[in-house]
This record gives sequence, structure tokens and C-alpha cells, in this order.
Amino acid sequence: MTIGKHKVVEFHYTVSDAATKEQLDSSKDSEPLTYLHGANNIIPGLEAELDGKSVGDEFEVTIAAADAHGEYSDDRVQVVPISAFEGVEKIEPGVMVAAETEQGAIEMIITDVNGDQVTVDANHPLAGRSLTFQVSVELIRDASAEEIDHGHAHGPGGHQH
Ligand code: ZN
Repeated sequence: MTIGKHKVVEFHYTVSDAATKEQLDSSKDSEPLTYLHGANNIIPGLEAELDGKSVGDEFEVTIAAADAHGEYSDDRVQVVPISAFEGVEKIEPGVMVAAETEQGAIEMIITDVNGDQVTVDANHPLAGRSLTFQVSVELIRDASAEEIDHGHAHGPGGHQH
């Protein structure tokens, strides 16, 4: 069996910043990541690389920012009045806040507070970074009709509901 649309895949990974080599995350000390292929569950560059792979395959790939968590965009940085943060306990740099937008809820981080002006950044924390992944494919199975319907994998490593 090879990885393709409507397959559920488990894989181990280590991800590093391609430029600094700093390791950012790894599944090696815990459970592999489980996802539904072809459903935009993982970053597009990695999903494309996994396509056609088999259990036991190991590879390393560097994915440009645009195909990872996106380019850093100044348009996603805004200054908003502090009155917009009603109900937020702590308004200081480093605090994550959620905002409802036309595209659904998005997470933003407060990067600056200047009087009653608050700067928030909606870029992904890894936006603008090229990432190097070391991947090993652990398991491939057919997705259930329910998983395909939901657009994600169920069970260990997937959605529990
Ligand atoms: Zn589900």
C-alpha cells in the first residue's frame, strides 16, 4: 500500500529550521503523527512529499516557507485599540489571543502594547521559515467513510471524539 488520497498515515518526524538547523519539534519520543492524506491536515509541502511513499520509507526534505506555514506577511500585523480585548486577563507581549474573522477563528500573538494601542501578529509562529523534515513512514491504512466525511483521522494520534 502506498500513500494517496483517503489513506490514513502515521509517521515520525523531526523538524528543524533549514537555515539555523535549530530543532523545533520531534515526534520521536512520543507517538507518531496521524493524519488523513489529501485533506490538508498537514503542511502542503510535506503532504506532497509523502504522496506515493510506503511503510518503512525514510526521507529528508526541505520545504520552503511558502509550502510550509507561509511567508511572513506584514499585512497580518495590526494595531488595535485595547478596548478590543475586553475579557482578556493579561494584555502583554507574548500572550495568545483568538479573534473571530470571516475565515473563522484565528490565533494571534500580542507583540507590543503602547498605551491603549496593542499590536497583534496573526502570522503562524513558523511563518517565513524554511523547514527541514526527517520523516519515517510507520503505518498506512484505508480511511473509514467517517474519517473521509470528517476530513481527519480518528483513533490514537488522530481526533478523539
Ligand atoms: Zn472526526
